[in-house]
Amino acid sequence: MIDSSELLAMDEAHLASLIKYHNRKYWVEADPEISDEEYDLLVRRLEELNPDHPLLSQVNAPIVASSGKVVHRDPMLSLDKAYSLDALLEWVAKYARSGQEIFLVQPKYDGVSAIWSGEVLATRGDGETGENITDKVPLIELEHPSGTFPLETFRGQARGEIVIRGDDFKTLYAGIRNKNGRLYKNSRNAVAGIMGLKNIALMKLQHAKLTFVDYSLHSWETSSRDFRADWPSLLEKVESLPYPMDGVVVKLKDEAYSRSLGTTAHHPRGQIAFKFSGVRQKSRLLSVVWSFGKTALTPVAEIEPVDISGTTIRHVSLHNLQNILDRDIQIGDTVTVERAGDVIPYIVESEPGESRKSCVIEHCPSCGAALVRDLPELRCVNPDCPETRLMRLLAAVRNIGIERLGEPNLRRMTAVLGVKTLRDIFNLTVSDLRKLEGFQELSANNLYREIQAARNVPDWQLLASLNIKGIGPTLAKSILRNHTLSELEALNSEQLAEIDGIGPERAGVIESELRSRKEEIDSLISCVNLRSTKNGGTSGKPTICFTGKMPEKRSWYEKLAMDHGYEPVDSVTGSLSLLVSAGEDAGSSKAQKAAKLGVRTVSLEEWLSSLKSEKSPESSSGDGDLFSGRNV
Ligand SMILES: [Zn+2]
Repeated sequence: MIDSSELLAMDEAHLASLIKYHNRKYWVEADPEISDEEYDLLVRRLEELNPDHPLLSQVNAPIVASSGKVVHRDPMLSLDKAYSLDALLEWVAKYARSGQEIFLVQPKYDGVSAIWSGEVLATRGDGETGENITDKVPLIELEHPSGTFPLETFRGQARGEIVIRGDDFKTLYAGIRNKNGRLYKNSRNAVAGIMGLKNIALMKLQHAKLTFVDYSLHSWETSSRDFRADWPSLLEKVESLPYPMDGVVVKLKDEAYSRSLGTTAHHPRGQIAFKFSGVRQKSRLLSVVWSFGKTALTPVAEIEPVDISGTTIRHVSLHNLQNILDRDIQIGDTVTVERAGDVIPYIVESEPGESRKSCVIEHCPSCGAALVRDLPELRCVNPDCPETRLMRLLAAVRNIGIERLGEPNLRRMTAVLGVKTLRDIFNLTVSDLRKLEGFQELSANNLYREIQAARNVPDWQLLASLNIKGIGPTLAKSILRNHTLSELEALNSEQLAEIDGIGPERAGVIESELRSRKEEIDSLISCVNLRSTKNGGTSGKPTICFTGKMPEKRSWYEKLAMDHGYEPVDSVTGSLSLLVSAGEDAGSSKAQKAAKLGVRTVSLEEWLSSLKSEKSPESSSGDGDLFSGRNV
């Protein structure tokens, strides 16, 4: 027994030698003389005297037993596993103390779990004893939060996984042969094979490289409240890493809390592994269909049907041409398909099949023109390509907010009614629409009304709907802050280059695109009621602006406002008639500005209830002044 006065009297050297002695008794001779609690007292006292004492970094590190086996001071427990997102969310809900509980999300590497003491490298083994693999250290590069360096030069402690990076396997290991003179089949085989070697001379000669990635290097945070919403993007981040992985580790960030939960017989409670095996299946790539987007052709793979978490999957996304070329995916290959949470099923990895065929096409399936490899995309650049035109028109329809009009109906419109442009769509009558398959009086009227409502459009939305390369809603707004849409056509490339967000490289392309489509743009302008961003609205109607987080999409409220005779605008100016502030956003910059300029501000609830009692601000009178949209 060690009493506390004795402990306080010990100096650093005495403590260190005592700890070393007890380490030996415990680990090597399996004949401990003191309890774990007493041992901890010694360690903590040494830490007080010298927090940087080299012995401390070895306290929880592997100790080589006389057998050549390695004994772990802290048993390395395996993790409990979740095979579905639902199971994972259940676990999160069980251990979160509030919506703000923070969880760490890390990759679950598919390699050899190991611990480095600064001198000794050991595998996890069964958690209590592992193999001493210090002789492999010369092949290993450490990836650690403090940097990347040869493992042998790192004197600190590291816990992590020994893997072969995907990029290394593709390049380096294309030439590295095992002791039988064969190439390794995949990176997992290679790691296991190299770890089992008695002698690494051959590997050194071939410059084989292994990577020891520290567990704390790649780690993301989310709260229990946001977990579900963040999950797809977290998964995407984890999977973009260049290591072989078979899942994701989720753990409580608060280590003290996590420890306080203790362990079951086999697993720590504060951590869980989400296994991809619940969401991954092997299949075979049967064919690839290239479908049209507004600017490029998108490859979709048809696979031998597989069942993943209760859903039969026949089609998976291949993203784009670049993805296919980079990963050398061909018809006939064995592919591993993943479907996790809300993520669209896709191919995680592929192995070459026995008979293979390229899946990249050379000619447009719609018009037959030669396709252009404009990496990362494959494009049909024929301006008259029927399918590409249709997709552009579909994108324009969406950008301008005619939500009821989907692809099948647009396709019928082009075939039956000869529709080619947005203008053609605006000019359709109810009786035109009734000629379309499946349209009755009511549905034709509804679609007609929605199309006509879309004529009330902010100019930036119209500009964004033109599908000019690089001009999305954000840039369109920025451009139109200083110029009206009709002024835009007259600008030369120097003037365009001065606009925030365009710059000299894009100015030329945008100029020629605006010139070549002048007629189309003018005809569009002539058939819509444009709201100009530059002038903050010119229709003479009361203007309304929304701020804050609203239960529905902002566009929904804007439409509602338009139906009630308002003109929605995006910014607060002195001429704004009404600011509607939603949620807890009363202190937003828009609200502050409105207060400064004396613009009337109401809450979303107040505004909505005012609409119920008023038909429209134009027709309102009497006590309707607040909600008439006019300043009083
Ligand atoms: Zn084409």
